[in-house]
Amino acid sequence: MKYPITSIFRSLQGEGHFVGYPTTFVRFAGCSVMECGIRSVCDEAPWKATQTLTAAEIVHCVRKECPAGIVCLTGGEPSDHDLIPVIDALTEAKFRVHIETSGIRELPGIPIEWITVSPKTAVFHQRIGHALKIVVTPGMDWGQIQARDENTAFFHRYLQPMMMPDGHTNIADVIAMLQSWDNYQGRWALSTQAHKTWGVM
Ligand code: SF4
Repeated sequence: MKYPITSIFRSLQGEGHFVGYPTTFVRFAGCSVMECGIRSVCDEAPWKATQTLTAAEIVHCVRKECPAGIVCLTGGEPSDHDLIPVIDALTEAKFRVHIETSGIRELPGIPIEWITVSPKTAVFHQRIGHALKIVVTPGMDWGQIQARDENTAFFHRYLQPMMMPDGHTNIADVIAMLQSWDNYQGRWALSTQAHKTWGVM
């Protein structure tokens, strides 16, 4: 099988739990989350696919970026594709495989080191993983966040400001939410798109 790929590149992880870690990103083209609340400002686009690659070809491209370390499968929505062949190939090549998904579908038994779920809809199906990361859209309140977190099982939970089309973010609102009494247990932490301030992809 072949996967539509936007880009494969080496950078530093700028979001979530592994912020600052050198990571090779495999960016799948396209996303089936049509009801996504931030689709209009998302930079995903199926037509951005620059190549279609087999699992072995993806491993080859990743190796050219770096022969070891973390590989993050991201998008678009990577779970739109049968990921088992590419995960198996990367794991066999001794890479540490992470995924960033909207949680639009369950990934039962997926053989992977780290799952970050970043739901863009009120209803999502992958409700267990290592990190839950919610992008706070303007007007989003704790009730909506807690509703998304209901019946989930994650080790870490992050709120991430939203990047507006003009380049500004609502980080002040998110910091105020994190410091509020609703987060008195410190269950949620801040995630930013730090790579954008570092000047890396
Ligand atoms: S779910 Fe993610 S990739 Fe899909 S449209 Fe929304 S922000 Fe973009």
